[in-house]
Amino acid sequence: MKELSIYIHTPFCKSKCNYCSFYSIPLSKLKPAGNSADFEQYAGLLIKETEIMSEKYSLEGSHINSIYLGGGTPSIMPVNFFDNLMDYIRKSFKIAEDAEITAEINPESGDLEKLYALKSLGVNRLSIGAQSFDDGALKTAGRIHNKNDIYNAANNAKKAGFKNISLDLIIGLPGQTEDIFYNDARAILDIEPAHISAYMLSIEKGTKFYKIYDEKNGAGFTPEENIAEYYEILCGLLAEKSYIRYEISNFSKAGYESRHNINYWNRGEYLGIGPSASSFLKFEDGKEIRKTNASDLDKYADNISKKTGDNKNGRGFIEILTEKDKINEEIFLTLRTASGINAKRLSELAGQEVIDKFIKEGLMQNFKENIILTLKGALLSSEIFARIMI
Ligand code: SF4
Repeated sequence: MKELSIYIHTPFCKSKCNYCSFYSIPLSKLKPAGNSADFEQYAGLLIKETEIMSEKYSLEGSHINSIYLGGGTPSIMPVNFFDNLMDYIRKSFKIAEDAEITAEINPESGDLEKLYALKSLGVNRLSIGAQSFDDGALKTAGRIHNKNDIYNAANNAKKAGFKNISLDLIIGLPGQTEDIFYNDARAILDIEPAHISAYMLSIEKGTKFYKIYDEKNGAGFTPEENIAEYYEILCGLLAEKSYIRYEISNFSKAGYESRHNINYWNRGEYLGIGPSASSFLKFEDGKEIRKTNASDLDKYADNISKKTGDNKNGRGFIEILTEKDKINEEIFLTLRTASGINAKRLSELAGQEVIDKFIKEGLMQNFKENIILTLKGALLSSEIFARIMI
């Protein structure tokens, strides 16, 4: 029986954040603006796509260890939005009794009614998009919540009985001073979530930040060396409070590592549904494919109705992974994690000389039978992966 994770993309947001490169549609752009008929239709498309994918790739009956409701902003959907889809998933697959079922919520939409509804749907983990506790930084980032909304959402999550709560933090939002950074770190530690994702801001093409950064030549943005310094300080502060850094940007109390993400880094199989979502599937003959849906709601809907779901003109695509692709993925995904990659295996794949060089530069180190990135290596991970990949 296949072991599978499921990712469900909800592409709607109240507005677009200035750093965001995910596929999402501000509600104001829906015509007519975000009415329930749009959502009903979208829920139907998600079920249809699950059905098409199950049939095409014989996924029915697969064993599901994790489900992730991501976005976009799943928490702005009507309370019953996911009911039929989850019923369908329960009927078509075998969900493990202890499966991790996560929903992303934004602080301003983390009200108790919504959280109870998610709980009764089977959600047992919440990921709250806090990003910062500084109202000025949040405004600059284009977020529509303030720090009080974060406290309210976290309190509501606890009240609704969620133990497994994750908070997202961005290090290096424009204007982040040392005081703001320490204030963010203190606030997150006060809430004491089971899991923290702390991402260093990266300016992605197509975002509002990208445009401003370019026009102003980076003026007003936090310098890279400060971001690196804050990251290192945060790692230390979290370690003091018994958070384990189990991946470059992810920290958790023991036993609260995200199973869904671990499956990605282990190159486990997953089914991704919704526009812009990717699926990764393996076959008995060794073939591996990654299928990525169109990042466009209309094209996605059109693909589903025609049962094509692939290829050409921005309609999504399917890649068949080569042996080289597989090796490169294995290297850069496993090296992201705290347990790293088996030393012998990395030596076979990349050559001992390269590893020795990285160790000498203080970017890698031996850890039991494995090779892991040092903290300095984690900060320079993109450059290391570019140098090491075959
Ligand atoms: S709420 Fe999340 S998905 Fe939506 S625009 Fe902001 S960062 Fe992107």
